[in-house]
Amino acid sequence: MVKKKVLITGAAGFLGSHLCDRFIKEGFHVLGMDNLITGSLKNIEHLFKLKEFEFYHHDVSNFVHVSGDLDYILHFASPASPIDYLKIPIQTLKVGSLGTHNLLGLAKSKAARMLIASTSEVYGDPSVHPQTEEYYGNVNCVGPRGVYDEAKRFQEAMTMAYHTYHGVETRIVRIFNTYGPRMRLNDGRVLPAFIGQALRGEDLTVFGDGSQTRSFCYVDDLVEGIYRLLLSDYVSPVNIGNPDEITIKEFADEIIKLTGTTQKVVYKPLPKDDPMQRQPNIDKAREILDWEPEVSRAEGLKITYEYFKSLSSEELFQKDHNDFEGYIKK
Ligand code: UDP
Repeated sequence: MVKKKVLITGAAGFLGSHLCDRFIKEGFHVLGMDNLITGSLKNIEHLFKLKEFEFYHHDVSNFVHVSGDLDYILHFASPASPIDYLKIPIQTLKVGSLGTHNLLGLAKSKAARMLIASTSEVYGDPSVHPQTEEYYGNVNCVGPRGVYDEAKRFQEAMTMAYHTYHGVETRIVRIFNTYGPRMRLNDGRVLPAFIGQALRGEDLTVFGDGSQTRSFCYVDDLVEGIYRLLLSDYVSPVNIGNPDEITIKEFADEIIKLTGTTQKVVYKPLPKDDPMQRQPNIDKAREILDWEPEVSRAEGLKITYEYFKSLSSEELFQKDHNDFEGYIKK
């Protein structure tokens, strides 16, 4: 039987690499694509030997060509942590807008179904709590997060336009804070920041007074939700996240307990436009996808901590490396 073919952009990233694993496991032929500006080939190194997996080193903000048939596209290429999109704001805007446009064009030409990775950031610093899909959001388009938030909002608009005007089959997932193995230790996000600090024997940096909240979802739960959404017939956006909300100060305390570090919490200024609260309303996912998260934060953090502990001290203290050139198809 011919395998179904899926193109996953951002394949070398945290979420993209877990999606590659899942689709391989489900019997798909997976084309991974990444320009490697924030992704790492180490995340997909174990797939290189499989004949069901191909990797293309390409920036999807430029025209995307794929030969032969294609059944599904999952667009997960984007810088996704606040320090990344501060460092590379133009690329962030381009991959969400031009990249999405290119991939929708590809989906149309191949009659493929396309799922895009949207985000809780479309809700900005929300005044509605918890956030439902109907909430329009509170985004500062010219603030530091605007490049990500507006790229993702444009991405959703473009995706719906291709659906309504061209009849392309589309799905939109709004992803809330997700964590797990293969997050980049130095990507600036709170979980790798805290665990990295604990492992290096540094104090944990809480931004602001730590009263802002987030709701953390373990990566396997997210991937399950995405898989179900892709195969569903639901076109409007769906929140996927874990509603178990916690303040950042409480989260720091949990990491201190988990790692047994003797370091303390130190307070740093709150970054501009940092959302004060975030919690997904997942009624839609429950109802339409029969999905809800199954991994508790305690369980998920334990697995993630083991992963970070397994990194070499070079990785713990240095930046990521991408030295798998030989495997890359240009
Ligand atoms: N944060 C923190 N210390 C850090 C990194 C982040 O207190 O070293 C805070 C950040 O200000 C935000 C929350 O943790 O309120 C989550 O930040 P993250 O960058 O993980 O993602 P966000 O949800 O803001 O996109």
